[in-house]
Amino acid sequence: GKTGSDGKYTVTLIEGDGIGPEISKSVKDIYSAANVPINWEPVDVTPRLKDGKTVIPDEAIQSVRKNYVALKGPLATPIGKGHVSLNLTLRRTFNLFANVRPCKSIAGYKTPYDNVNLVLVRENTEGEYSGIEHVVVDGVVQSIKLITREASERVLRFAFQYAEGIGKPKVRVVHKATIMKMSDGLFLSTARDISKEYPNVEFDTELLDNACLKITTDPAPYSDKVLVMPNLYGDILSDMCAGLIGGLGLTPSGNIGDECSIFEAVHGSAPDIAGRGLANPTALLLSSIMMLQHMGLNHYADKIQNAIFATLAEGKMLTGDLGGRAKTHEYADAIIKKLK
Ligand code: NAD
Repeated sequence: GKTGSDGKYTVTLIEGDGIGPEISKSVKDIYSAANVPINWEPVDVTPRLKDGKTVIPDEAIQSVRKNYVALKGPLATPIGKGHVSLNLTLRRTFNLFANVRPCKSIAGYKTPYDNVNLVLVRENTEGEYSGIEHVVVDGVVQSIKLITREASERVLRFAFQYAEGIGKPKVRVVHKATIMKMSDGLFLSTARDISKEYPNVEFDTELLDNACLKITTDPAPYSDKVLVMPNLYGDILSDMCAGLIGGLGLTPSGNIGDECSIFEAVHGSAPDIAGRGLANPTALLLSSIMMLQHMGLNHYADKIQNAIFATLAEGKMLTGDLGGRAKTHEYADAIIKKLK
């Protein structure tokens, strides 16, 4: 975001559908209580059909382009013909090539492990999700996994920079180059080359199947690492790790692009609880913390994060998904009280 004449950054806010406006309100309330130097620029991304294609309103796109940073609530994907997922459209429009998901155990929410603390970086544009599929003959289809050095380089470089930035000493590539010799092989050899640019970050590799086994057996050895991998592996492994820390209500993410970045909760619009003050805003709040770190506003990130974790650990004001009875705004108020 650029700083305006008032010294504040302007950030695009996509409140989203369903519980989106409720959890966005918590973020706005907590940010103003914490005096975060941000002006929100709310935009509507309700899809429009143009020439049979789903498009995002121009004003929304211009806003993100101008501000470089956006916080996004969940978007309901309309069911029916002619609609591409809006999330996919956003990802393509802004070339959001890396998806970052930190997974850290949260005191106050009991899960089988209380020491999960890893970061996953997923390549977000190609691999198995390139969408290149065709029928060879009836009963035989082919799906192309596309890996390019260019896309691999940029996500790998990002992973190394991210590791340095957050003080994790190691980057590990997760792969299946034993079987996918050429595609994962290219990702792996690119990683070896890029790692030379980052002598202060240790680099190693692990097979995907082994990583799944080891993380679920004992997540502790992964605490000092950023894991980076091709698209499909990252999609699956990130949900597995989200499950380890307590699931949807708590997991944030960042979509990083060449110029613009969009931070969002992993969960959807929760139509079953929308409009009733029952939603847990933690995932969106933690996504906004990633955003603050991305913008270099670490002081505010730490202050708000500490207040969130303290409120959760205390366990008195929890939303229904965490076994509590607090309304969304009561939980937000409890966080505000701890902003000291
Ligand atoms: P969902 O994540 O919206 O809901 C799954 C379950 O988790 C529901 O019971 C819901 O009440 C609960 N839940 C989710 N977030 C919560 C929160 N913050 N606090 C408390 N409970 C929460 O998944 P769904 O029902 O499969 O999808 C609903 C809509 O959201 C669909 O239109 C889908 O396309 C969309 N969606 C959007 C995104 C996104 O924008 N990134 C991601 C996933 C789904």
